Amino acid sequence: MKPAPFEYFAPTTIDEALALLAEYGDDAKLLAGGQSLVPTMNFRLARPAVLIDLNRVPDLGYIRAADAGEPLELGAMTRQTILERSTEVANHQPLLTAALPHIAHPQIRNRGTLGGSLAHADPAAELPAVAVALRARIVVRNIDGERRHDAGDFFHGLFSTALEPTDMLAAVEVPPLREGTGWSFQEVARRHGDYALVGVAATMRLAAGVCEEARIVLFAVGGGPTLARHAGGELEGIAIDDARIAGAARSAAREDIDPIGDIHASAAYKRHLAEVLVRRALHEAMARSGDARAAGGDAISRGGRG
Ligand code: FAD
Repeated sequence: MKPAPFEYFAPTTIDEALALLAEYGDDAKLLAGGQSLVPTMNFRLARPAVLIDLNRVPDLGYIRAADAGEPLELGAMTRQTILERSTEVANHQPLLTAALPHIAHPQIRNRGTLGGSLAHADPAAELPAVAVALRARIVVRNIDGERRHDAGDFFHGLFSTALEPTDMLAAVEVPPLREGTGWSFQEVARRHGDYALVGVAATMRLAAGVCEEARIVLFAVGGGPTLARHAGGELEGIAIDDARIAGAARSAAREDIDPIGDIHASAAYKRHLAEVLVRRALHEAMARSGDARAAGGDAISRGGRG
């Protein structure tokens, strides 16, 4: 299939792109890596009258390493491969580095961008869940100025975000992990590179064996990234052990999500996967927390798999 006819603009500055968005609004689509937009246009599921190509706007592609205590700043047009190979990202936000290889295949990640993935908001996508787990802030610009959204408020549901038709997702700011924070990324897909059947991005902060915060975000289980509030709440303020982790994983699967079955997995199977993956994620996050008491505990010595 070929796309319906459209008018094409290739601005070279952010301001030019914003002016075009202001002019064409609802009729326009921004083109980033094209890995989702172009197929949907080819199938005529999307028929924008105007395409505004961001690929010639150099100011949108960057990784700005964080000074101590400052966020890591990532431009919207940063390719997923560049993020995946970045030592700054690996040093500051290893959860992001761990998630990236799960997105499709290298050829797709060579084109696909951070901003495109977040703006597209596929419910089975990895990066929206990671953004919520890491409390990232989404920087949005339009011709009138700039605003920031917490990632937790940015995703509104199936392919839906806080972006308005004249908005551009310009950058993502990822605050540093606090001391004592461990992380884990878990995903089951039918084949490597497929969209997830179920996935989990989690962080857990521990001090002297007590969980200070657990941020467990599931994806491919609903309309968007789903923060497991019940499960997280069960862990916070208590000494963590195998039984607590198993209980929280059960709660995540039973109370925090409401998956819908599809041709690849029934709702019951998704719940089962969610429980197993949350349990694994919490064990791994605890092991990585650097908390000596937790790291010496039973849960870690048994490896936490299963
Ligand atoms: P585009 O396709 O260019 O744009 C996507 C949407 O976002 C469009 O509506 C566009 O207008 C909008 N947009 C783009 N940039 C901006 C911006 N800066 N501001 C506002 N709106 C913007 N993704 C996964 O997460 N996991 C997978 O497992 C996965 N598997 C895939 C397998 C295949 C075979 C293919 C083709 C794609 C797969 N993808 C997967 C999707 C892909 O890798 C991209 O991450 C994603 O589609 C969007 O990134 P993009 O840069 O290509 O955006």
